[in-house]
Amino acid sequence: MTDPEKLTEKYFHCMGERLIDEGDLEEGIIFFQKAIDVGDTPYAWYGLSRALGMAEDTAGAVGAISRAIKLAPGIPEYYFERSRLLASLGRNDLADEEMKRAIAIDPNYRRIDRINRAAGILNEAFDGAFHKPSCPVASCPAYCCHFKENMFLHGVTLGAWKLKAVRELFREKGLNETDLLENFPVAGIENAQDLFSPYDIVKFDGIASVIFPRRKDAVLGADLARDIPKGRDYRSLMWIDGTARPCRLFENGRCSIYEAGGEPSLESCSSFLCMTGFIFLVLRHLGMVNEKWLSGLSIARLNEIAVEALIILGEDVYGSEEMRSADPPDEDMKKRLIDEAGRKISLLF
Ligand code: SF4
Ligand code: SF4
Repeated sequence: MTDPEKLTEKYFHCMGERLIDEGDLEEGIIFFQKAIDVGDTPYAWYGLSRALGMAEDTAGAVGAISRAIKLAPGIPEYYFERSRLLASLGRNDLADEEMKRAIAIDPNYRRIDRINRAAGILNEAFDGAFHKPSCPVASCPAYCCHFKENMFLHGVTLGAWKLKAVRELFREKGLNETDLLENFPVAGIENAQDLFSPYDIVKFDGIASVIFPRRKDAVLGADLARDIPKGRDYRSLMWIDGTARPCRLFENGRCSIYEAGGEPSLESCSSFLCMTGFIFLVLRHLGMVNEKWLSGLSIARLNEIAVEALIILGEDVYGSEEMRSADPPDEDMKKRLIDEAGRKISLLF
């Protein structure tokens, strides 16, 4: 696919997601099919499977998720979804096989229901609690600053205000803008206004464009790709794999434009945290983190600990029977539950 085709595909599958979330399954299915007509992507087939499943076309949903698996055989949630669908068709033997495949990729799938439940509880409990937080996980190779494709396709673009500040910074440092930033003309691209914020569409050489960071040449590589964390909903981060390349603004372990213009990095970067980053931010907020762990332990170990801590906080504190039956929550009881959870979590390190 060309970049304009990728944008069109993105528009169609995002519309499909939005429509099925709003309950318009018929239109949602049409949009996923349009997305697939433009580009045969696993996420559009996954979305189509979800929509067909919700519309009670289970056999069609199995067909669609099977195509997603063929295109992306390393994604455990696809096998989990096929397992769920096959079980609802009464094929428990086949469903078990699919679960085994999901577990072989990610052993946490043995307890995926608990993880999903705890993630929902914690996301709700801390909804809006952290404004543009900086990730505390110092030992992470900043997976979230690596991208498989041109960064504007992932929504990483510079708005007019940030662009002005970044240009000033480049001037001060004697850097050449064209080495670091690139532009993509969106004039004539259908639905560009739905894909980019109006603040991010700027004039470049007189043409409505988006400006985005270039990527460095070196790829993440298969070794590091083994430890990519999950998203806050425990889904795979589909834009990062071993072929992903770091943003060119990532220098010496940090974002080189982080503070330019008084706004942290770029809108899409500053609003993102993976599951591991989110859980350690919560643990730090609750006073349960020794900062040395965040730089001394490997990201693989921190990913494991984050899932354990997620389940403890979800089950023993925020989703506990005591908390749910107390209305309004009793602060002493909450503190006691948090202290007990903190003791359990400290044993993980
Ligand atoms: S948010 Fe996640 S991927 Fe990004 S730096 Fe933090 S731990 Fe790493
Ligand atoms: S702009 Fe900064 S935070 Fe965003 S991807 Fe690039 S280096 Fe990372």
